[in-house]
Amino acid sequence: MNAVSPEPWKDRFRGIRVVEVRRVAAVTPLMRRITLGGPELAGVPRGPNVKILIPPKGLAPEWPLRGPDGGPIWPAPERRPVTRTYSVRRDRRAEQEIDVDFVLHGHGPAAAWAADAQPGDVVGIGGPGGLSVREADFYLLAGDHSALPAIARILEDLPPAATGRAFIEVPGADERQPLAHPDGVEIVWLHRTEEAGRSALLAEAVEAMAWPERGRVFACIAAESTTARALKAYVRDERGLDRREFLAMGYWRLGMSETDYHREHDHDRGDEYHQNRRELAPNHAD
Ligand SMILES: Cc1cc2nc3c(=O)[nH]c(=O)nc-3n(C[C@H](O)[C@H](O)[C@H](O)COP(=O)(O)OP(=O)(O)OC[C@H]3O[C@@H](n4cnc5c(N)ncnc54)[C@H](O)[C@@H]3O)c2cc1C
Repeated sequence: MNAVSPEPWKDRFRGIRVVEVRRVAAVTPLMRRITLGGPELAGVPRGPNVKILIPPKGLAPEWPLRGPDGGPIWPAPERRPVTRTYSVRRDRRAEQEIDVDFVLHGHGPAAAWAADAQPGDVVGIGGPGGLSVREADFYLLAGDHSALPAIARILEDLPPAATGRAFIEVPGADERQPLAHPDGVEIVWLHRTEEAGRSALLAEAVEAMAWPERGRVFACIAAESTTARALKAYVRDERGLDRREFLAMGYWRLGMSETDYHREHDHDRGDEYHQNRRELAPNHAD
């Protein structure tokens, strides 16, 4: 009989941890909270987001292993997990668990998995990755439904005296959720009427905001690719923010899986993002 390694993640590509679904809960009709946990979470550094590896339905999970050169050795294509990026909504490390809030958008494998997930289901976790805001006098947060978990966490972590505005686009009033936030940060809910990814509402609302006349602004932008690109161009080219004064990233791209969006467009992050990452979180994975 093979002995089970006390640190089995050391044999896996990028130290992937295996965790199980502990609880599921509806946050709103189209947002499902999955609590993932287990002893392998111990010692994983904290960060704003994680890669979630979802095994094919109905098959025993298999994970990419660390090859001799550090690269991945993937399971056969039909047994290979899909990798998707999600925000860590809450991190309760003492209880060895994290919450991840999934939009049930109805198209991809991660959304489908989240819709059906049950306690005891197993996924892999890689990371952490991502960056968070830098200190500023005014915080401009702009995101769509998929960015709501990230914005909710940023709002909770801002200093109590922070000022700013958070624009959040959701499919309708049912998708609003109570958010803890500093009194000086106004929450603006935007209800889109078009299909996800085809609405200009978020970009229009941000561009219509009266820009602060003084003080340092920090902008955090996370949405479908077209909106993320438009808002990055707006804050950088029209409002003159330097790369240290904004984070902008496409969280998804209409008509494309995350795998393809990452490969073909690098989530629209651009050089600014990578320079910021080298400065702020050199140990985070991409
Ligand atoms: C840093 C980061 C953090 C993120 N955090 C979260 C999070 O906390 N919660 C969350 O729900 N998402 C989050 N996302 C977005 C999530 O990774 C993508 O939505 C991802 O594409 C979902 O994978 P999937 O397998 O469901 O769909 P995919 O297989 O990637 O895509 C299948 C189809 O669904 C479409 N699609 C993908 N996402 C959406 C969407 N949100 N709405 C409508 N159509 C969509 C695609 O255009 C494609 O046509 C985050 C992304 C990044 C980069």
